[in-house]
Amino acid sequence: MPDDLPILFDFPSSPDSLLVDGQAGERELPVVPLINTVLFPHMLTPLFVGRERSVAAVEEAMAGERTVLAVAQREADADDVGPNDLYGMGVEASIQRVLKMPDGSTSIVVQGQRRMRVVDFIQERPVLRARAMPVYGEEEKTIAVEAMMRAVLSLFEKVVKLSRTLPDDSYIMAMNVDEPGWLADLIASTLPLDVPRRQEILETLDPEERLRRLSIMLTQELDVLELESRIHTQVQKEVDRSQREFFLREQMKVIQRELGQEDPLQRELLELREKIGIAGMPEKVQTKAYEELERMESMPPAAPEYAVIRTYLDWLLDLPWTQQTEDNHDLIAAARSLDRNHYGLPKVKERVLEFMAVRQLAGARLKAPILCFSGPPGVGKTSLGRSIAEALGRRFVRISLGGIHDEAEIRGHRRTYIGALPGRVVKTMKDAGTINPVFMLDEVDKLGSDFRGDPAAALLEVLDPEQNHSFTDHYLDVPYDLSRVMFIATANLLDPIPPALRDRMEVLQLPGYTEEEKLQIARQFLIPKQLEANGLTRTESAERGTEAPSLNDQHPGLGIQPSALSIQHSALNDQHPVPNPQPSVLSPQPSLRFGEATLRQLIRSYTYEAGVRNLEREIGAICRKIARRVAEDRPVPRVIPPTLLSKYLGPPRHAHGLAEERDEVGVATGMFWTANGGDTLTVEVSIMDGKGTLIMTGQLGDVMRESAQAALSFARANALRLGIEARRFETSDIHIHLPEGAVPKDGPSAGITLAIALISALTGRAIRRDVAMTGEITLRGRVLPVGGVKEKVLGAHRAGIRTIILPLKNERDIAEVPAQVKRRLSFVYVEQMDEVFASAFCDGPPQGDREQGIGNRG
Ligand code: ADP
Repeated sequence: MPDDLPILFDFPSSPDSLLVDGQAGERELPVVPLINTVLFPHMLTPLFVGRERSVAAVEEAMAGERTVLAVAQREADADDVGPNDLYGMGVEASIQRVLKMPDGSTSIVVQGQRRMRVVDFIQERPVLRARAMPVYGEEEKTIAVEAMMRAVLSLFEKVVKLSRTLPDDSYIMAMNVDEPGWLADLIASTLPLDVPRRQEILETLDPEERLRRLSIMLTQELDVLELESRIHTQVQKEVDRSQREFFLREQMKVIQRELGQEDPLQRELLELREKIGIAGMPEKVQTKAYEELERMESMPPAAPEYAVIRTYLDWLLDLPWTQQTEDNHDLIAAARSLDRNHYGLPKVKERVLEFMAVRQLAGARLKAPILCFSGPPGVGKTSLGRSIAEALGRRFVRISLGGIHDEAEIRGHRRTYIGALPGRVVKTMKDAGTINPVFMLDEVDKLGSDFRGDPAAALLEVLDPEQNHSFTDHYLDVPYDLSRVMFIATANLLDPIPPALRDRMEVLQLPGYTEEEKLQIARQFLIPKQLEANGLTRTESAERGTEAPSLNDQHPGLGIQPSALSIQHSALNDQHPVPNPQPSVLSPQPSLRFGEATLRQLIRSYTYEAGVRNLEREIGAICRKIARRVAEDRPVPRVIPPTLLSKYLGPPRHAHGLAEERDEVGVATGMFWTANGGDTLTVEVSIMDGKGTLIMTGQLGDVMRESAQAALSFARANALRLGIEARRFETSDIHIHLPEGAVPKDGPSAGITLAIALISALTGRAIRRDVAMTGEITLRGRVLPVGGVKEKVLGAHRAGIRTIILPLKNERDIAEVPAQVKRRLSFVYVEQMDEVFASAFCDGPPQGDREQGIGNRG
């Protein structure tokens, strides 16, 4: 079967010799039908011959004149071709060559000779044969034909230039043809035209007309090519732009590699991958990190999301996952370290040492305890946490929870928020850099909660040993293990802490210090610290050999630093200073001492607090004044006498000693406590002529007002027995006042104080000035227990009280009061008001009808 093979150009050496000249006459020829192509005269074309009848036609021709009639088939897919399937005009072709192919098929090379019109088909089988007649057109070359030839040539030239399939030679060949008909045939056979249009050219006999039709076809072709080329250039431009960048970047990479530098972006991604590999993250976290990294790799660095992922990965990488400090197992060294930083506080120190001991036995499996230090400000809660970390050999970190309302502050924001970051817990773990720091949560009692969520609930997860191995921060979005962390919370008061949270913690109370303890703390810790902070410590050589027995000899466990020695020693000799040690050349600064009397006055008259923060501040203030004198080369006292205090610190700020100077009528001393510790309060009652009105001033809260009403009702109900004229309640106004009127006061614990002041005023009996009391009163005169007893007792002791009246049920609270304080006080435990009278009134129990006394008088 002749098939769609490319047409070869072969310029005949002498076209004329190839023409079968002149004999215009019919011929009978075997027919070879052409599929998808049209043969033109002069053209040398290879044809594939496959169909049986075509092969027979070739064989018949080869046996005779080697000539066939090549006629194009109308439809390419017609197989059993009959006369109707063929065009009416073809080309007489001489077979130049026959090639037998290995698969049994045949290829022939034919040369077109002249146009032949089919007259009729005379045989269909075994060979299709036709009778045909040669046809010729006018070959005269008029000017019009010449012009047409040039126009066609120039169009063809353009087509060849634009076309990507036509070889440049095809134009050169066309240029060298000067017969118009032949030129048209040559170009038509070269162009990629479809069969009907080729056939149209073949059947157009007039050369001029043939050229004209061809020129139309060429113009169409040119249009298509131009459009194609335009599209091509546009596409090319687009492709070029993106490829250009790609190529340039690739080139840059190669250049950089040659120069020994790498693409910083690539390097960044590579480094990130390496870091994720060695960060020690749990598998789940690592998978997440790799996923994020892959997302990052697939986006351009300028994309906003790129930076977001980068920050996220940095957080994951900066968090400690396995890094931990080795715990200190030396209990003796730890005990010494705790003593070195804090005086007293045996319970807390013991608890820490116990933890260390158990930890040694149980190994790393032991969950760290969650402690809560509760006590007034300045009692050393924070500094104790720091010192515990030091003793354990762990890092110390802290966050303050005071005023946090928003859960996100603890747990972070989800990454979908713009500018989201992890919460404080995770941030602090990053700062810690280890998985087992001592983590202080300051002021848990000051956590808030509102519409932004409940931070306490988030804290629950942090502090619950059952949950905190997989704490989830919204930003991280992967669980983080907090189970190795030793959490210590601090609070001034326990009541405001949500019960669920309080349950999870082991509460250790730090109630405040007695004067004695403060004295020791000042001598051993605060003064040395402040001397050092203000550059007033003596150099070692100046210290050497100057001081008498070291305190360490007396109290080896305390491990006191040398700088404290001179103060400790000299403090005992305050009024009679020891001869001054030899001044040393190396020590331009003099040693500075605070005598005991000075310190006591400082404690009593300048600071009034449960802790020692202000004391430290005042000592610091004195040290600064001295430091300035040293710097100005002015004479400096070696010992600070009590008289210097008012010069340096101004007049005493707190009048201490007894609450009252004399035993008085209508004035009783109560006790109260706040987050700042305990203190005494005075209740004054005055009776004047009137109509039985009860006036209360001094910012009494509702509960305290009700207490006052109850006290009055008790007095009225027991008037006779108490020796009060019943009429007085109608003829007098009663005014109850609590001084320091600007400070709001509330609570039921002033009940018995209000009652005794009232009864004193009504009976004219004086109350002992050195007695302080606390207790709730009922209408029947029973005394009910109250809170904060320890703090109140310490406060009363500070105020110089000798006897303290307490509800019987509060007796057990006294166990926690330091022995030194207990020794100096006498306690009276009461259940009934009558017992209060016995201890509070200067002249003992009331003078009324004692036989009618109510209740148990013990
Ligand atoms: P808190 O956290 O309870 O408010 P701090 O820990 O801030 O108190 O303590 C205030 C200052 O008092 C610190 O300088 C601390 O060293 C010192 N301090 C408190 N208690 C003691 C103590 N028992 N021994 C030595 N110094 C103490």
